[in-house]
Amino acid sequence: MKKYRVGILGATGTVGQRFVQLLQGHPQFEITALAASDRSAGKPYAEACAWKLSGTIPEYVREISVQPIEPPLDCDIVFSSLPSSVARETEEAFARAGYPVISNSSSYRMDEDVPLLIPEINHDHLGLIETQQKNRGFGKGFIVTNPNCAVVSFAPPLAALHEKFGVKSVMVTTMQAISGAGYPGVASLDITDNVVPYIAGEEPKVEIEAQKILGKFADGAITKADFSVSAQCFRVNVIDGHTASVRVNLKETTTLEDVVAAIKAYPSLKLHSSPETFIDVTDEPTRPQPRLDRETGKGMTITVGRVFPDNIFDYKFVALSHNTVRGAAGAAVLNAELLIDKGII
Ligand code: NAP
Repeated sequence: MKKYRVGILGATGTVGQRFVQLLQGHPQFEITALAASDRSAGKPYAEACAWKLSGTIPEYVREISVQPIEPPLDCDIVFSSLPSSVARETEEAFARAGYPVISNSSSYRMDEDVPLLIPEINHDHLGLIETQQKNRGFGKGFIVTNPNCAVVSFAPPLAALHEKFGVKSVMVTTMQAISGAGYPGVASLDITDNVVPYIAGEEPKVEIEAQKILGKFADGAITKADFSVSAQCFRVNVIDGHTASVRVNLKETTTLEDVVAAIKAYPSLKLHSSPETFIDVTDEPTRPQPRLDRETGKGMTITVGRVFPDNIFDYKFVALSHNTVRGAAGAAVLNAELLIDKGII
């Protein structure tokens, strides 16, 4: 199998570290470039990075010298986990220099010519790349994005329901892990023994991204799904794993059995990082829980539970996903595998 050389922008951060961990021993990718801020540039990765994942920094990256976030980098593909403040300009520079840019940042997610991908749901949105290259004069470079880490938890069950019954409206309350804020993130005195009912900039993202993900691609453009989402986003005292409490109105009347069956039957893919089960539906009354369920499918499975009829909406359920794996680095790696599988890279 051909190995592609990959570079990581924001390699020293929370998501960057997860990339380094997930790419160790990957059959299609090898890390050849790591880049971060001026604080880190010029240092060996092991010195620049405050490693916060379990275990030690993998041997194979320890001595790689961290570079500034500018092209050229010695790689075929760029993964970006930069803060949105610098991502827009930097990702464009790499795309313009001919690199496929696979981004975690929010900067381009809602641009009309940029795919916002969950490969199991909308891989046909890759058709936007041609439009993007034409619109922006990118040559062979391009940008694809993965969704906000909280949206990833509930968009898959919504996709299953939208396909079968049509989704009319959604109310979602997210309980988001501390690692979602990066490092050092939320101050310990703010989050210990506490729930914070505000995450800057989060609710607007959670209210608009699912409609693009579940939109229809035709004639070089996406028509967004026509449901509305009302969101409240909370930071909770959990290290990894975002939980979403969801209530949904459907266009068609159906039964609880058919709702559960539709979510359960939503298929996975056959890519290297695809989990065997894309959406695991549990009827355990106390699940999903972040500590117990976030590692399911090596962090790539969405766990759904507490599926019931609702007194005000049609149905309610709880969905959980691992925010730095399925919600960030794992999502981007899966996107890269998809791009290779489709012959785009
Ligand atoms: P983080 O822990 O704060 O890491 C940020 C990374 O970007 C570090 O490598 C940092 O390098 C680098 N960086 C910061 N400012 C920079 C600048 N001005 N120029 C160049 N590099 C700079 O953040 P994170 O949680 O990994 O998040 C990264 C991106 O992924 C954000 O856009 C975030 O919204 C998105 N995201 C995060 C999650 C999550 O669960 N954490 C999930 C989905 C998406 P230094 O170490 O050198 O400062």
